[in-house]
Amino acid sequence: METLCAVDVHCHLDDPLFDNDIESVISDARNKGIKNFVISAMLDLGIERALMLASKYPWIYLSLGVQPQYVTDNNWKDLVNQFHEKLSSKFIAVGEVGLDRGREGGEITAQEKFFREALRTASSKKLPVVVHSRGAGRNALSIIYEEKASVPVIMHAYDGRVSSAVDAVKHNVFFSIPPSIIRSEQKLRLVHALPLNSMLLESDAPALGPNANERNVPSNVLITANVIAKEKRVGLENAINTMTENAQKIFNVNFCSK
Ligand SMILES: [Zn+2]
Repeated sequence: METLCAVDVHCHLDDPLFDNDIESVISDARNKGIKNFVISAMLDLGIERALMLASKYPWIYLSLGVQPQYVTDNNWKDLVNQFHEKLSSKFIAVGEVGLDRGREGGEITAQEKFFREALRTASSKKLPVVVHSRGAGRNALSIIYEEKASVPVIMHAYDGRVSSAVDAVKHNVFFSIPPSIIRSEQKLRLVHALPLNSMLLESDAPALGPNANERNVPSNVLITANVIAKEKRVGLENAINTMTENAQKIFNVNFCSK
């Protein structure tokens, strides 16, 4: 298994839930072939720890976004300013950004304003975008099309219609699939319908693990990889290699060199 090199394209290793054992969480994942991690640092939670981790570990990369459910009419302009201020060459992507119609509320028009601004900024800086779209998959996709995002877009943990996802592949849109696939009929149908060259592996750790009530860890992306390999009728290594190539193209990073 020495040759395996998977990329966890979306995780939150800066979450306080990893404060006590980050070293072993990372080494366990790397021993199992998950060699690289993209942390989606979020302005509303503070990005200092993510920056620290990326400077400490060469295989940790960063993207910059905000939790959509945090964006309101009162704070969105300030968040846009912070976003422009903080977006340096340390970030290889924009996100997560998007829309959330989940239980935490938030204000959807303000979310949309921030989202559109982030898409425009990403296009002008030629950075891929990681999109969060809870309960708003189709809505998020139509905004992406309206803004004519000229960069690759990754729909993370997409929970929308499978037919909209299949259509999105034609628009340079990719899908990262979390380990919660083993308890989600929708994700399984998604993987069944999408081509392997439009998929990526994500843990979203500490969330979206195989067990809803347990802390998720990046090594669990192997669970996703196994499901995808089986669905696509290819070997595990083959599936992982293809998804790593997808990640390298999207982020323009030679992940497996480290
Ligand atoms: Zn996330």
